[in-house]
Amino acid sequence: MIKVNDEFFQRYVDVLVECLKIPTIYQQETVSDTEPYGKGVAQGYQWAKTLGPTLGFDVIETPGHAIAWVLGEGKQRVEAVSHMDVVGVGDDWSVDPFTAQIIDGKLYGRGTQDMKSALVATMMAMVYIKENNIPIKHQLRAVFGMDEERTMEDIGHYVKQEGQPLFAFTPDGAFPISGGEKGALMWTLKGNLSHPKLIRFTAGTACNVICDKAQFIVRERLAFVTKVADSLKVDYKAREIEEGVLVEVFGKAAHSSVPEMGHNAIVDALNILRYIAIDPKIKALYRTFKDAYGFGFDGNFKHPVMGDLTSGLHVLRIENGHLHGEVDVRYPLGVDSQQLTHHLQSLLKDIEVTLDYDARALLTDLGNPFVRECIRVYQQYTNDLESLPLISGGVTYAKMYDGVCVPYGIKDPRSSTPMLAHQKDEYIEIKYLRDVLNMMIEAMINIANV
Ligand SMILES: [Zn+2]
Repeated sequence: MIKVNDEFFQRYVDVLVECLKIPTIYQQETVSDTEPYGKGVAQGYQWAKTLGPTLGFDVIETPGHAIAWVLGEGKQRVEAVSHMDVVGVGDDWSVDPFTAQIIDGKLYGRGTQDMKSALVATMMAMVYIKENNIPIKHQLRAVFGMDEERTMEDIGHYVKQEGQPLFAFTPDGAFPISGGEKGALMWTLKGNLSHPKLIRFTAGTACNVICDKAQFIVRERLAFVTKVADSLKVDYKAREIEEGVLVEVFGKAAHSSVPEMGHNAIVDALNILRYIAIDPKIKALYRTFKDAYGFGFDGNFKHPVMGDLTSGLHVLRIENGHLHGEVDVRYPLGVDSQQLTHHLQSLLKDIEVTLDYDARALLTDLGNPFVRECIRVYQQYTNDLESLPLISGGVTYAKMYDGVCVPYGIKDPRSSTPMLAHQKDEYIEIKYLRDVLNMMIEAMINIANV
């Protein structure tokens, strides 16, 4: 088992700190032909591009989209693929998200969990293997994409340019390995909707986040609105404003793949509204999307390993006679997304349904020799023989490879560190990083020798 010494570990931490200081957030205002994701991400791209040759690696560019460090002459290749981009930061951090401060053994910064600690671990694994002249059979690459959080087209371009590898892992999930990922689709709903009593309905910010606040304005007596809402036992506030009665309905935000952890405010708001603005489209929306497991559109489907289909109408705007909605669905193997789209369209007669995004479901073959190596490394380092591969409703780069890429690490299933990806005050414990680095080195050596 490889165990890096203090000096090598410190080198890793130093490079990680450098990486965390680069604000690699997508920035639309500075997008250009050569910098397709804006200035901040381009800075991260340049950094990886320059650092590779400094440490003795050949670098392959998919210009603007991805950088690959290359080691070895093997005819076939294996790789670890990570994303350099991070999501934005709000103004509620208690530390600077881009100075990489260490406080009480915790390294703070945007990207510490998702996923720069892992990205730099794969960089330093390459360095370790090279400096120690460890033999490898296949060509080994560490690949860094630049737009995972938005489109994943970065790695789409890379795979198109370089072809599929023999095997890849992406350390953007959990140990011991991902058991699979549900499919993910997004429907856009468009139509005309005007009702004399409804002035405006606004709810939701992103399709993949369960809506925590919906609001609408109706021409109705406040007493009637209150009577309806009280009888439905929803969390709401209503008051008179100049235009009519403003109703605010509250839910609980969570990632769309875990409806059991959130509560969709749009459903409760539609439930009130359907008694005030009596309209077949409002009724149909409520009926179709009130349930988060697809029952409303006959989409409930349970896979013995992958679990339930989940769904949610998470964005809805009705204004000036126009309706716009966005629905997020996570589905297991066995669901035909085209067929489901046709069926939904038949239920929502006067609303136009389009399938705007669709990534298929993936089930990990746990008997695959590369996969077995990855699991074995985790089990060896941690003595954890109990944790099982989990199915995730999230989407990673694995979706962009043709079934040969599996999420592997770095979240430890036994750890009590909260999941802080995409949240304020994101941090990772330094002592945990040592295990991560060792496991990345060992796993990359092993997959390069299968
Ligand atoms: Zn990630």
